[in-house]
Amino acid sequence: MNAPASPIEQLHMSLPDIDWITDTPRVTRLSQDFSWFSPVLKGELNGKRADIVAKPRNEEEIRQLVAACARLRIPITVRGGGTGNYGQAVPLQGGLLMDMSGYNAFLWAKDGVGRAQAGIRLSEFDKEAQAKGWELRCIPSTFRSATLGGLFGGGFGGAGSITWGPLACPGNVLGVRAITIEPEPNFVELRGAEALAMHHVYGTNGLVLEIEVGLAPAHDWLESVVVFDDFDKALEFSDVIARAPGILKKEVGLLACPVPDYMTTLADHLEPGCHAALLVVAESCEQPMLEYVQRYGGKVTYRQTAAEVKATRRTIIEYAWNHTTLNALKVDKTLTYLQSSFTPGQHLEQVRLMEKLLGGKDGEVLLHAEFLRTMTGEVTCSALQLVRYTTPERLNEIIDIFRANGVRINNPHVYHLEDGKAQGELAPEIIETKKRFDPQGLLNPGKMRTWKNT
Ligand SMILES: Cc1cc2nc3c(=O)[nH]c(=O)nc-3n(C[C@H](O)[C@H](O)[C@H](O)COP(=O)(O)OP(=O)(O)OC[C@H]3O[C@@H](n4cnc5c(N)ncnc54)[C@H](O)[C@@H]3O)c2cc1C
Repeated sequence: MNAPASPIEQLHMSLPDIDWITDTPRVTRLSQDFSWFSPVLKGELNGKRADIVAKPRNEEEIRQLVAACARLRIPITVRGGGTGNYGQAVPLQGGLLMDMSGYNAFLWAKDGVGRAQAGIRLSEFDKEAQAKGWELRCIPSTFRSATLGGLFGGGFGGAGSITWGPLACPGNVLGVRAITIEPEPNFVELRGAEALAMHHVYGTNGLVLEIEVGLAPAHDWLESVVVFDDFDKALEFSDVIARAPGILKKEVGLLACPVPDYMTTLADHLEPGCHAALLVVAESCEQPMLEYVQRYGGKVTYRQTAAEVKATRRTIIEYAWNHTTLNALKVDKTLTYLQSSFTPGQHLEQVRLMEKLLGGKDGEVLLHAEFLRTMTGEVTCSALQLVRYTTPERLNEIIDIFRANGVRINNPHVYHLEDGKAQGELAPEIIETKKRFDPQGLLNPGKMRTWKNT
């Protein structure tokens, strides 16, 4: 007698028209993200994979998959481009991996607002919006492969956050359409703060179908690298450009010595031992930018107009944010990284202090700062420092040293929501949203520790 079909087999057999992926190597590959940046997560998430992958093409297929999973009590982990860093899209308890990349239509852009299906790539969204004179306000450096749903579900911001703050700032996300995870699913439009309760919670409290975002006017962006011999001058220059209200900007990053030495594919523009500022400012603002370069004793070693960036498909944004870490890891696999935010108004002193305590050319923590505006509009910097990794214990000691000196660490070496950016506790509206949209707790189970206790 044949064994009864497992829930996964029943799911697979009940929806024969879905684009299924069942072969083990592909399912394994799609179950991974960029959590390998962390030697800690690499070990903890090793071997975690979905049982099956589905690639829905339309809302009806998503509804059918959700209804069947809810009936069969199968976990669902949603995947966009799989570029998340904390194992966000790695299924901990098997089940279905729903690959959203085929659900990717651009819907519309007008009057500073745009809307698309969640699986659209950010580069594709921008291409469509720019044709209408608009662009995304902030993009991660993974914009070529990351999706709008993944940015909303697992991202923070990136290039553009120096002007528009993090994605979570009210006005940056205006609404989402989501589906409830029930045998009879409902489609719900959430607006404003209600929509933001699903932001950066790793797809644990809602499966998002469409996202409506505030847009920025599109500009022709000039990309420059400015190098300095002196650390303080490089830091002050980056800060002054970040603040300068008359300079339209998309990116102000600082790679302190020896970080530029790891950017080997930019080596022609980075003198060994230099400190380098990565700048993306509107072409119309080049002159005032150059005046600051002269005032702080910097030297422009790289300059690409918007037309050149488009023609070469080479952008310094792919040397900023966590691409700095990626580029460095290509050179030295023993490195890892941290994520920190400095207190506005004290950020330069804090950066200098941490540089003195742990940094410098031969230090243990190598400074890579990204300037941005906070949720309340102040200019500060965050950092994605490179760390010369030795042991998990020493990594935790380093984190404690930062915290003891008033620097906030968003630990990228943990996969539970509560242990990362949430800093211990989830807002009640996150849990309320989960009760409403995922009453059986099927979405990305194991990432929201609080859920077990409610
Ligand atoms: C080299 C590198 C550089 C990076 N730079 C940045 C940066 O500058 N800024 C930044 O914020 N991040 C950055 N990241 C992290 C990541 O690339 C971004 O957050 C990106 O936006 C994630 O998009 P994705 O489509 O790859 O998401 P995925 O990794 O596929 O998913 C991320 C999370 O969102 C959830 N999710 C995906 N789609 C949906 C949906 N439709 N509904 C509900 N939940 C969903 C997933 O379950 C997962 O938990 C970087 C990562 C790397 C590896």
